Amino acid sequence: MRACAQETLAYKDWKSALRRSLAALPSEYGAGQAALRGAANPGSIPHMSECYDVIVIGLGAMGAAACFHLAARGYSVLGLERHHLAHDRGSSHGETRLIRKAYFEDPSYVPLLCRAFDLWEELEAACGERLFERNGLVTFGRPGASKAYDGALASGKLYSIPMEELSRDEALRRWPIYRPPEGFSAAFEPGAGFLYAERCVLAHAREARKRGAVLRENEPVLDYRFENGRALVRTQQGRYSAARLIVAGGGWSASLLRELGLPLDLRKMLLGWFPATGAHAADKGAPGFVFDLDDDFYYGFPQIDGKSIKVAGHRRFEPLSAPEEKDALPPSPERLNALRRFIETCLPFASGELLRSLSCIYTMTPDEDFIIDRHPETPELVFAAGFSGHGFKFASVVGEILADLATEGRTGRPIGFLSAGRFRANPHARG
Ligand SMILES: Cc1cc2nc3c(=O)[nH]c(=O)nc-3n(C[C@H](O)[C@H](O)[C@H](O)COP(=O)(O)OP(=O)(O)OC[C@H]3O[C@@H](n4cnc5c(N)ncnc54)[C@H](O)[C@@H]3O)c2cc1C
Repeated sequence: MRACAQETLAYKDWKSALRRSLAALPSEYGAGQAALRGAANPGSIPHMSECYDVIVIGLGAMGAAACFHLAARGYSVLGLERHHLAHDRGSSHGETRLIRKAYFEDPSYVPLLCRAFDLWEELEAACGERLFERNGLVTFGRPGASKAYDGALASGKLYSIPMEELSRDEALRRWPIYRPPEGFSAAFEPGAGFLYAERCVLAHAREARKRGAVLRENEPVLDYRFENGRALVRTQQGRYSAARLIVAGGGWSASLLRELGLPLDLRKMLLGWFPATGAHAADKGAPGFVFDLDDDFYYGFPQIDGKSIKVAGHRRFEPLSAPEEKDALPPSPERLNALRRFIETCLPFASGELLRSLSCIYTMTPDEDFIIDRHPETPELVFAAGFSGHGFKFASVVGEILADLATEGRTGRPIGFLSAGRFRANPHARG
């Protein structure tokens, strides 16, 4: 951090700027407005803003990774997080996330995934903690009718990713813990696996701090603006300025980037932990799994706690109008029943009796592809949003890309298909 004399606003200017931005604040910041009005006394107003090369708003999976890459390159970085690190109010909690390369969604993601895998390994080596279990992933689907099954094999072929195709009988013999419906086959990616979600966020944050990043928790950003090409960011605790600003706000992105009008929808997703025998144990080599069934796309993880497995559905959701609504209601009985039915039908070594559950937010774009870009008129503002329920595995490379865009204005990674401009050209894109 540097004291930034040339950035300091005269108190008079600051007060009128504050008045303007208070008037513009949405009602969710009511408490902040009141606190700031209460504090409108010259003695308690900080005249000097802290100065950084880059400020990152939001320290979930993406923002924490961006802080790490920036700090590793020697930039002075401030990361601001509204809750504590690895909290459970956004999108990056719930123990584990699947990671795979044979991307059925779109093979354009594969080069990014290859880099993401390398970066997770580097982070694991740097922090000395296990972040990634390489147990493989088996995808069950109906050949010719399942996008997950056909798409994984197609991506695998295109990029020479080691994959195995198994008939239903072969799969039943190899993994008696799974009982796919008649007519299904299995696509197995042995190099896939799962990441420990909170550990990954904390590892990026810890390694960023070790390299000099200042990460402030429980400090929500109230607003930001650009003046003379610099970002001025205001929280309840202080004012900060930086040459570049990265916004990685997860479910809060639509309001943090309101002016861009990004087409983002929030979904509440349910995760459940169910009893399972030791046949599902990760340390005995059980892989992660995907079942592309007619009623939902179910997925789950090997057992890591000696008693249960985590299972979820990807397509069924409850719409949210704000992230804060996520835990207002208990899990939907309909969602829980669907998970139970799936387990009772397809997982003979597990039981449908729920042990615990969590909810988590998907921030969806209409085409379900991410948005990673610079602001069209204010290139000092870089943002990453709309990870549409499949972004975690990319966080390591997204952090690197955000650092590239913020510091060099460009990246060598192939992200053209993720530009925000695709929605300006066609607001509904693929969706
Ligand atoms: C149930 C579920 C299962 C998933 N499974 C997978 C999977 O298996 N594989 C996979 O790759 N992906 C998966 N995903 C998707 C992945 O987890 C998300 O895409 C990813 O975590 C999004 O990270 P993020 O940094 O964008 O959001 P978040 O982690 O939510 O981070 C945004 C941060 O910004 C902070 N913030 C917001 N506003 C402010 C403010 N004003 N001031 C300061 N801070 C602010 C928030 O508090 C939050 O910490 C899953 C998601 C869910 C919900």
